[in-house]
Amino acid sequence: EKKVVLITGCSSGIGLSLAVRLASDPAKTFKVYATMRNLAKKERLLEFVKELHRDTLEILQMDVTDQQSILDAKEKVVEKRVDILVCNAGLGLMGPLEVQSLDSMRQILEVNLLGTIQTIQAFLAGMKAQGQGHILVTGSTGGLHGLPFNELYCASKFAIEGACESLAILLQHFNINMSLIECGPVNTDFLVNLQKAELEDLSVQQVDAKTFSLYEKYLQHCNSVFQNAAQDTEDIVKIFLTAIQSPSPAFRYFTNSVVEPPLTKLKAAQPDGIQYIKAMSKIVFSGEEK
Ligand code: NAD
Repeated sequence: EKKVVLITGCSSGIGLSLAVRLASDPAKTFKVYATMRNLAKKERLLEFVKELHRDTLEILQMDVTDQQSILDAKEKVVEKRVDILVCNAGLGLMGPLEVQSLDSMRQILEVNLLGTIQTIQAFLAGMKAQGQGHILVTGSTGGLHGLPFNELYCASKFAIEGACESLAILLQHFNINMSLIECGPVNTDFLVNLQKAELEDLSVQQVDAKTFSLYEKYLQHCNSVFQNAAQDTEDIVKIFLTAIQSPSPAFRYFTNSVVEPPLTKLKAAQPDGIQYIKAMSKIVFSGEEK
């Protein structure tokens, strides 16, 4: 019997790659429900899978901020169960905190935090009843340590850590595993889709000169990190597969084992936080005077 997988945010990036990989598994191990907010964007996914995987892939509409659309998608799962739930949909928000509107702050929390939680909620009772399951969430290193000019994004991803860790404690009593796949920069549409305050924006021009120049530095840093260190979605998909195939999956997987554990260790080693804050400032603003 196939493992039933449901993935959110499959119109691009990590979700799309994961759906394609699982649906084209040579052993046909998986039946994949690739969900996306806007079905008009399904062509890209279909291009990758061609006509080959009719029996292993179905595309469904699901907006993670809309409870009814989650329940409608759930109804359309013909097997009436989901073995592996992948909460992947997410958005970025970048810029000086002063310029962020309440609406854009609400939206990021709606999608990244409540969207993820609401999706898990919808499938939780089913997984508990069937006595098995695996919930995977696309986490971010921005959920493990703060990043300047990403306050709301980090807040949303830190919150995910808390929600998932809390659930994991309970769910082990139901034979349900919970795994966070912690990604650093990945080559996807993330940078295109994120809401970014531009240096040319009037609101950004109006912030104080020091914040403006630090934001300029941050944007350069961000570009160079994406150019030099971004992983491909295939690298991320490999880690998802490791987690999915493990008989006893870990709670956290790091996709970039070179960069991340040292920063996380640095933070953990010094709970007062001073060393991490200094180190990150140095990395991002390289030597800028306080
Ligand atoms: P992406 O923008 O290509 O993919 C995100 C997907 O989520 C998009 O297809 C988008 O349409 C979808 N989405 C947005 N709002 C939605 C909603 N309300 N309902 C359903 N779907 C919605 O970027 P990605 O990098 O593939 O992002 C996937 C996940 O990876 C996100 O949670 C993101 O935070 C996380 N992540 C990405 C990076 C990176 O550098 N790319 C780093 C760390 C974590």
